Amino acid sequence: MEELTPDIPRPDACPKCGQTPLHSWQEMDDAEREIAQRVYSAGASFPLTERIARHRWCLRCWHEEINSAIRRA
Ligand SMILES: [Zn+2]
Repeated sequence: MEELTPDIPRPDACPKCGQTPLHSWQEMDDAEREIAQRVYSAGASFPLTERIARHRWCLRCWHEEINSAIRRA
């Protein structure tokens, strides 16, 4: 459990640019939500309700993290 490998990104870090933390829909303001809806990349196959409930966004590169469940081994 204490094996912290630097190569493994933090679960709350953007897998593309490493920015932390990722922001959930509730944590973004209106302008940010508008951008998140426009970029709509990985989320294109998901209904907005599911994106709001589960997805998280990187505010730097606007990567949309769809696998937001934090795994606990
Ligand atoms: Zn990013």
